[in-house]
Amino acid sequence: MKRIDITVHGIVQGVGFRPWIYRLAHECRLNGHVSNNSEGVHIAIEGQPGQIERFMQRLRAETPPLAHITRIECSEGRPQGAATFRILASSRDSLPDTLISPDVGPCPDCLRELSDPNDRRFHYPFINCTNCGPRFTIISALPYDRPNTSMHVFALCPECAREYHDPVDRRFHAQPNACPACGPTLKLLDTRGWPLDTADPLQETITRLRRGEIGAIRGIGGFHLVADAFNAETVATLRRRKGRAEKPFALMARDIATIRRYCRVSEAEVRSLQQAARPIVLLRKKAGVDIPGVAPGNRWLGFMLPSTPLHALLSEHMSVLVMTSANFSEEPIAIGNEEAVQRLAGLADFFLIHDRDILQRCDDAIVRIVAGAERPIRRARGFVPAPVFLHKPSPAPLLACGAELKNTIALCRGDAVFFSQHIGDLDNPSALAFFEECIRHLQNVLEIRPQHLVHDLHPEYLSTKWALAQPAEQHIAVQHHHAHLAAVMAENRVHAPCIGIILDGTGYGTDGTIWGGEVLTGDMREFSRFAWLQPVPMPGGSAAIRQPWRMAVSWLNAAEQQDFFSHLPCSPQQLDSIPLLLQMMRSTLNSPLTSSCGRLFDAVAALLGLRGEISYEAQAAIELEMLADARERVLWPEVLPDGVSAALDARPLIRRIVAELAAGTAREKIAMGFHCTLAELFVRSACAAREAGDCNRVGLSGGVFQNTLLFELMLARLQEEKFEVLTHKQVPSNDGGIALGQIAVAAARLRAER
Ligand SMILES: [Zn+2]
Ligand SMILES: [Zn+2]
Repeated sequence: MKRIDITVHGIVQGVGFRPWIYRLAHECRLNGHVSNNSEGVHIAIEGQPGQIERFMQRLRAETPPLAHITRIECSEGRPQGAATFRILASSRDSLPDTLISPDVGPCPDCLRELSDPNDRRFHYPFINCTNCGPRFTIISALPYDRPNTSMHVFALCPECAREYHDPVDRRFHAQPNACPACGPTLKLLDTRGWPLDTADPLQETITRLRRGEIGAIRGIGGFHLVADAFNAETVATLRRRKGRAEKPFALMARDIATIRRYCRVSEAEVRSLQQAARPIVLLRKKAGVDIPGVAPGNRWLGFMLPSTPLHALLSEHMSVLVMTSANFSEEPIAIGNEEAVQRLAGLADFFLIHDRDILQRCDDAIVRIVAGAERPIRRARGFVPAPVFLHKPSPAPLLACGAELKNTIALCRGDAVFFSQHIGDLDNPSALAFFEECIRHLQNVLEIRPQHLVHDLHPEYLSTKWALAQPAEQHIAVQHHHAHLAAVMAENRVHAPCIGIILDGTGYGTDGTIWGGEVLTGDMREFSRFAWLQPVPMPGGSAAIRQPWRMAVSWLNAAEQQDFFSHLPCSPQQLDSIPLLLQMMRSTLNSPLTSSCGRLFDAVAALLGLRGEISYEAQAAIELEMLADARERVLWPEVLPDGVSAALDARPLIRRIVAELAAGTAREKIAMGFHCTLAELFVRSACAAREAGDCNRVGLSGGVFQNTLLFELMLARLQEEKFEVLTHKQVPSNDGGIALGQIAVAAARLRAER
């Protein structure tokens, strides 16, 4: 007879771990107990040594689908003569080290019951089990038990209670367990928030959607605005009401077969769509088919499968629905019922609400398969708060405040970095409030009290100002593009020196100018700027971001191609204002210098006549990528500068584009020439950095790498040059991944101080 005490760390609560251990112990004929505690799951087993060994082998090999074990600790103890194996109530005795499970889309078992007329949960929109259902968005504190979730207001009915307490039931300790008799219910409200008289809110919702109405529907991480994707008039109305002229809408489809009618879907993409997180997956449109108004001018469509049973029921009746976060432009997504009715007045024609409160707002996540791997674009529902692990632990708990656009924050304890969900652009008061709410909530549920705060170098970012106003032992500033480099190094667990090709929109440089087309060399602690796009002025500052024609004027002026001004996609008034713009740039008035690669894309998009103004972030650059004819490589080696360190001269590239346009070359081909030649410029610079510094590793990061054409071209060329290339697979390459880099840099500096 032998006794072993085991502590299992990782995502082990709320994922059916204890019932699985219970069954395993019974199968191995062992006695003892299992319980959740704040470190994870504690198991005590007593029995014959051979049986214990079998148990340990299976514990390591057969983990339940949603569990993720990071560490197992064992110690031998004195047998206490346990006569059974039992599941004990949760205890709290130390800091929570347990990882909170992200929200999980409906599992096959639950979907089967949902459509079984003989099941007591037939068509019940809140069906869930230990393998699926809401998690992160309903938790108020650890341990993950029903009283610490928004389900605490629903008393289990006898039948649900029986399932909940039966160790062999698949709903054993499923905290959100519910049924039509005891659980949350749906309600339909009109635009004023008054209940609509209907026996079947779901059926009435479908009737209204079919009629062309726009519904605000409460999901798992917040409200969506929902509309029939095939009703072009409704989609146009939704765009008008939301103030969203052209930015693509995401779609929810009933199943993979439906998606395949519109997009090419690889096996890897099927896996991405079907994973527990149910993210939006960007997929290539099939030639000749389209859903008008959904993603104008884009070769990609964003599809997701139903993320909750409620959405699965909607999908049964409507094969493709537009699903967009319920908010005005970039404000945070609405989550509360009353909040929704107030904030979404004028957006929705009706509200489908429920009474299971959402404690954390969480948008849909977005991913895309590029170069054989899933790349996050927005890390949100289904992915948070699963941590990213550092190569070495941080000496002290940290909070990283992220950047300005696509903000996320991160908390670090030991080697675990916990990311917040996508918070959004910190340029409006409600986003700043959400930012503070996220920090508060994550600190509370993870019980992390950060000792030091990490922030961007930009003095005007709201996240920087917020950080500097908080008490902390140290405030650690990290340069924006160094954070990008550190992020891609950290998620690849690389600590040795690295070259970084960081192509980005804007970031504050150490010299006070705006950077964004950078070749950096360095490690986690320090970096130097090996090369950069030769800076040009941004006439009008941030106005030049919204109006790419201004960047075209700046680049044409730098390249002495002033004759081309009159060909730009400008209004007559804008054309008339060009002399003023030139004067502004000469006198350096409101014309900060920038080496931004994103702004160069904007300029070229305007040169090719794509657009003078944008209605959503990076629109011009996206359209330039879409324009490029990628079937054949087009390289202009003559325009590459001899020197590929320090300032990289892109003016010959601009002159070449003007000449190609004058010669009548197809714009599709010119767009491809720009992509290939720009990639080559940075690859050559990386080669020079390798020779100078004897480092063969290069990391790719920055928002411009959301451009899959540029990313694939650059990746292929770097691999040809025999570089070891680090890319993002866990956090976005855009500013949504900055917080990881901030943590990694701060942790490395703190370690060095010791
Ligand atoms: Zn389930
Ligand atoms: Zn019940």
